[in-house]
Amino acid sequence: MRKQIAAANWKMNLTLQQGEQLLDAILQAPHELSADQQVVFAVPFPYLQAAQAKIAGKKNVFIAAQNVYSKKSGAFTGEVSVEILQSLGIQVVIIGHSERREYFHESNQFLADKVNILLEYGFTPIFCVGEPLSIREENNQNVYVQKQLQESLFHLSAGQVQKVVVAYEPIWAIGTGKTATSSQAQEIQAFIRTQFARQYGEAVAESISILYGGSVKASNALELFSQPDVDGGLVGGASLIAEEFVAIINALK
Ligand code: PEP
Repeated sequence: MRKQIAAANWKMNLTLQQGEQLLDAILQAPHELSADQQVVFAVPFPYLQAAQAKIAGKKNVFIAAQNVYSKKSGAFTGEVSVEILQSLGIQVVIIGHSERREYFHESNQFLADKVNILLEYGFTPIFCVGEPLSIREENNQNVYVQKQLQESLFHLSAGQVQKVVVAYEPIWAIGTGKTATSSQAQEIQAFIRTQFARQYGEAVAESISILYGGSVKASNALELFSQPDVDGGLVGGASLIAEEFVAIINALK
């Protein structure tokens, strides 16, 4: 079975102390992760090291960065490179989140550069795609998402693309409390898998984890994750509340 993943995206929230308390509360909760299940915490850059220390020795639990720059090193004030993240033992990085695309104007081509450098250094990118409300209202979400995949991922080899985790996050559902229905999520995530199958063949497509993101919470996680092409979730708001995120972890297939 492909990996089933509960990924927390803390965004620009919590102080270090609050973050540590939250991690403690979640890690202490009793949940047995099977070999196919993973839990990821994408924390602010300054907390990476402290968070890494908290998960030491925990199997299938990872600390992730929420972003990375596309160059190895150099005069890029304020940016963080793969080499810096690697030196902290980080292995997972979110890229292409809609907030980065919108507020920081990150294009599909720029994200392709980030995917390339992450794979060159052996990271697992969690690559976000998803359409705005206007596109969904025109029923053009498949075309929109296909272009994101085409321009940022489909230059990769089959061996490379299998290391990518995709997160489908409809922008109209992020932080809005409005969740895609499980059938809406299943429909487009099946479409995304079909695109990988067309490009790389069935076996590769079947091996790629596709997460759903957009107002996932304890009350809807089980229904969403029970869909055949939903391999877990990328979770913002609900990942900041220990009981909520523990329930989301427990809802993984
Ligand atoms: C996200 O930030 O990726 C996200 C899906 O946020 P939320 O769960 O709050 O909608």
